[in-house]
Amino acid sequence: ASTRDGVNWPRAQALAAAERASYIARNPESARLAGQAAQHLLFGVPMHWMNDWSTPFALTVSEASGARFRDADGHEYIDFCLGDTGAMFGHAPQPVAQAIARQAARGYTAMLPSEDSAPVAAELARRFGLPYWQFALSASDANRFVLRWLRAATGRSKVLVFNGCYHGTVDDVFVDLVDGVPTQRDSLLGQVHKLTDHTVVVEFNDLPALEAALKQGDIACVLAEPVMTNIGMVLPQPGYWEAAQRLIKRHGSLLVIDETHTISSGPGGYAQAHGMRPDALVVGKPIGGGIPCAVYGFTEELARRVEQAKRSAPPGHSGVGTTLSANMFAMAAMRANLEQVMTEDVYRHMFALAAQLAEGLRAVIAGHKLPWCVTQIGARTEFQFTPTAPQNGTQAQAILDGELEQIIHLYLLNRGLLITPFHNMLLVCPDTDENDVARLLSTFEECIKALLLN
Ligand code: PMP
Repeated sequence: ASTRDGVNWPRAQALAAAERASYIARNPESARLAGQAAQHLLFGVPMHWMNDWSTPFALTVSEASGARFRDADGHEYIDFCLGDTGAMFGHAPQPVAQAIARQAARGYTAMLPSEDSAPVAAELARRFGLPYWQFALSASDANRFVLRWLRAATGRSKVLVFNGCYHGTVDDVFVDLVDGVPTQRDSLLGQVHKLTDHTVVVEFNDLPALEAALKQGDIACVLAEPVMTNIGMVLPQPGYWEAAQRLIKRHGSLLVIDETHTISSGPGGYAQAHGMRPDALVVGKPIGGGIPCAVYGFTEELARRVEQAKRSAPPGHSGVGTTLSANMFAMAAMRANLEQVMTEDVYRHMFALAAQLAEGLRAVIAGHKLPWCVTQIGARTEFQFTPTAPQNGTQAQAILDGELEQIIHLYLLNRGLLITPFHNMLLVCPDTDENDVARLLSTFEECIKALLLN
């Protein structure tokens, strides 16, 4: 039979059809709600990308708690997607639920700091090793604001990103290398500015390319995830970041580390865990336990330059803002989450489970001689359809197989297991336990067997 990514492809397609039929039969209430939603929701869903899951129509969630959620038809799921990191500390973690319940009776937003602001900033400083902080409503916003501050502070216009990166809806970074040529990502809607004028893109793990770009002397900052996680995972090669940081410094540029996903590496993110020294750092998604908010921090020196840039500009709109940023409600959530949820102990539990998960996935893959591999960054694990892990965005892009992903995802979902859409990423949270991981592994193996049948 013809094979693709090591699996029997006609068999995989037959399985896909069977799983879609099974989903439709299993979820009459989600189907009814999807029909209703189609009347007044654009694309039939609250966000257009909710149609891009593996399911024939959207699965409607009725409630979520800890590592589990329930759908509108009453099925229970073990959640390894966890809101693609937004719920990395479990759904509705108790301390956060209590803090926001308290805050719910005490106001949400006032354009003024609340009593939680200073303690939250102090905790961020302690944990991430950067002394000065600001807030935003999403990681996308935080990245946008940081780019603005750093261009203003350095007087340089360009930013450098790595091919295949994703930092949210930040237009500047939708630039890819296509056959080695910087090219605006053609999926980006409604962008009329020429992004390649002010965005430089190089491959991750390519020091000569990074140096050649920095040498031009016009790059305000490098914006990077310390490990690429959005095109499938791409790990830095040993010594890469040490050398890259030296180059960035030598050429008068700045390093912004986006820890929104790599906060899976530990309470202080990947940078703290691996001795990196960024000039600025961004974290969004789970920082408030799932309540919308994001944070960004600066070194003392950069903070002074940023303050100087603002003070020397005419008064008026800065382009950094949004009315609800740093609102009292999000601040209460962050305080509870940082002080009581994102602790060393919780991370130890998640690391042990993720290791069990990664080893188990490797064993299943090896047992069936599949040409796949597994990468783990703390609580984040991913399997990829390649025998050796990719080293840059181009390689990572080449091995993506959305069709095969969706077959596996839907197979798991129909059996009460949710993993992250658009790649093969699994997160564990403080409430995930060994039985949950064991169940994921045994169902994953059943799926592989079904894909390999002759
Ligand atoms: N940074 C990284 C590394 C991300 O992966 C994402 C989203 N996947 C973002 C920023 C943007 O987060 P949000 O969509 O919550 O703004």
